[in-house]
Amino acid sequence: MPVILERSNPCSSKHAHIVSDTEYTADIQITDHIISAIGQSLAPRDHEQVIDATGAIVMPGLIDVHVHFREPGFTAKETIKTGAAAAAHGGFTTVVAMSNLKPVPDTVETLKPLLKKNQADAKITVLQFAPITHDLHSDQVVDMAALQAAGALGFSNDGVGVQDADTMYQAMQQAAKLHAPIVAHIEDASLMHGGVINAGPVAKKLNLPGIINQTESSQLARDLELAAATGVHYHACHVSTRQSVDLIREAKKTRGKRHR
Ligand SMILES: [Zn+2]
Repeated sequence: MPVILERSNPCSSKHAHIVSDTEYTADIQITDHIISAIGQSLAPRDHEQVIDATGAIVMPGLIDVHVHFREPGFTAKETIKTGAAAAAHGGFTTVVAMSNLKPVPDTVETLKPLLKKNQADAKITVLQFAPITHDLHSDQVVDMAALQAAGALGFSNDGVGVQDADTMYQAMQQAAKLHAPIVAHIEDASLMHGGVINAGPVAKKLNLPGIINQTESSQLARDLELAAATGVHYHACHVSTRQSVDLIREAKKTRGKRHR
């Protein structure tokens, strides 16, 4: 179980199984939240809190670049405090939170209090994506420069696709200038037809309305073309179809070559 050290007095963990570049078992001494010594049978210091780490793994904190803390707006599901605690419990010390919140943090005025609360309520580092467009609609790109200056790590409309190609093109142009990533939820709404699961044998078996794979892959194909044209750092979230994997593989092979 992950242990978050809140006390500033010295502490040490004994018999920790350390997973870093290599794996080994050793004692770790911590002073002022920083590892001050790693070694075999380290002598205890005065007033030291000792944690028996036998059977536990000690490793660098994990990073999750895609979390939803649902605050503000949907706190019945999750809050910054509970989400960050769950992340810490799983060994994650840095996470990046998505922006499909209420209000959507699409202006400096709505982003700033959110960043403040991320910092105040979480014991881990919570970084924040701002949305690509105002209110997650597909027509008006946010002021990316202002939001980045206020502290946004990058831009994502996670939860919904950007339906308009020109909006995405403009967003990518802005983001490329700022060296900020565009983190895309790829889903063409016009191909959804009320589907709730990828079409295929599982949808059939569960008798659920299916979504054809091209709902994802056709928007991805568009984005990859626009990303190549703008040179933006582009990331596709939760890819779920074979066609998308093929497209990404192909784009990785040719990107750069086409750009030069
Ligand atoms: Zn998501």
